Amino acid sequence: MKLLEERILKDGNVLSDSVLKVDSFLTHQVDYELMQEIGQVLADTYQDAGITKVVTIEASGIAPALYTASALDVPMIFAKKHKNITMTEGILTAEVYSFTKQVTSTISIASKFLSQVDKVLIVDDILANGQAAKGLIEIIQQAGAQVAGLGIVIEKSFQPGRQELEDQGIKVTSLARLASFANGQIEFAEADV
Ligand code: 5GP
Repeated sequence: MKLLEERILKDGNVLSDSVLKVDSFLTHQVDYELMQEIGQVLADTYQDAGITKVVTIEASGIAPALYTASALDVPMIFAKKHKNITMTEGILTAEVYSFTKQVTSTISIASKFLSQVDKVLIVDDILANGQAAKGLIEIIQQAGAQVAGLGIVIEKSFQPGRQELEDQGIKVTSLARLASFANGQIEFAEADV
């Protein structure tokens, strides 16, 4: 997605060999017009897949997931990262190791929001090692629902997440694919859309 690649070049900051900071439009301050465009592109890609729910993980996945859900006219569910005393009914959980925070947390979704009839599009902000996506897939499968695909705003293609997910049979659609950021220079691989 050309518009997104241009924005990454303009506003993305390379923090190290493997970490990109995109807090001015995606992970902290959010550019809603760009998110709306991203949501439309993902929705167009999965228009004929019979998606019934969009699932993401808090917090930075929520913006692109919500615009995707809006364009597909289906509900968006975000997995919670912290225990909440109001979640008293059945909850589905998975363990996720966070690439940026370097801690393992239990993520959860109330079981009443997913069932065997659901075809789910997972949306997330950044794909690195695929831990967040794998945790979401585990939860969706516990519910007996089907994963139709994974829509990613920024994929770091030099990390193993995409390959491992594809090896599990998951369709991955990344709007920007970063091949490397050696010497602070961002190089793109060909995006899926
Ligand atoms: P994964 O589970 O695929 O290893 O990592 C995915 C999550 O870690 C993303 O949802 C994102 O929140 C965070 N993350 C991974 N790599 C980066 C990065 O380079 N920059 C930022 N800002 N977040 C990242």
